[in-house]
Amino acid sequence: MLGGIEAGGTKFVLAVGPSPDRITARHTIPTRDPATTLAEAADWLAGQGGLTALGIGSFGPVELDRTSPRWGFITATPKPGWADCDVAGYLGQALGVPVGFDTDVNAAALAEYAASGNVAGSLAYLTIGTGIGGGLVLDGKPVHGIAHPELGHIYPRRHPQDMDFAGICPSHGDCLEGLASGPAIIARWGMSLSELAADHPGHAIIADYIAQACHMLFASVAVEEVVIGGGVANTPGLVERVAARTRELDAGYLPGGTRHRVIRPRLGGDAGIIGALMLAEAAAKA
Ligand code: ZN
Repeated sequence: MLGGIEAGGTKFVLAVGPSPDRITARHTIPTRDPATTLAEAADWLAGQGGLTALGIGSFGPVELDRTSPRWGFITATPKPGWADCDVAGYLGQALGVPVGFDTDVNAAALAEYAASGNVAGSLAYLTIGTGIGGGLVLDGKPVHGIAHPELGHIYPRRHPQDMDFAGICPSHGDCLEGLASGPAIIARWGMSLSELAADHPGHAIIADYIAQACHMLFASVAVEEVVIGGGVANTPGLVERVAARTRELDAGYLPGGTRHRVIRPRLGGDAGIIGALMLAEAAAKA
């Protein structure tokens, strides 16, 4: 039996199943302080019985270097209490099973890659919600680099109708997350994107910023697909707008451009937890 945790800043989604595509039980708990939350997660998972491995897709930043003594830690997060938290170590010890660990968005990218039937030889997963993050699978493997990608913190070119807003990222101001995350939208217009009138310029402005990230992914690492999830991505028409704007930005230049796709998750909201179970499956085999 595989166990999975999608560890988010506001909730932990827990699940078990004999394989990643067969979830037999799931449970959601609010993210409180680490001691309470991790104990509650371990209790529920232990209560399911017969666990052989655990996979965790976590909010970050996280340490993914297997040779580091801090592997499996959430590292420098501003979230109170969670900095330098040994998430994988605690849960591995509490449950007595091998642990697979990656970012929440790399886990989601892995699951979407599998769900595509490997149609996409390479794929990026962007989540647009309270924050913005992105995971990458290239040639079937999640990309870590020297840490892990932080795609929410690239600087897009400012939209001409959006020159006055300073952005809300505490580190960068007008990075992608500072401009296009849910809180950035509310900071500008006092409501969510889906609440804005259909003819409000905000729709085109936000789509433009996300499209710049998609174009960057197609142009830099030549992924075939960008999958866009997260709460803001549920805004009707947004992903279609992003896809159209991405094609405009490319202007027919990129080789392979006809194969590029910007799409909603095939797995809906389950990409993260299914990806966590895939990490468990890999840990069981390691
Ligand atoms: Zn930033």
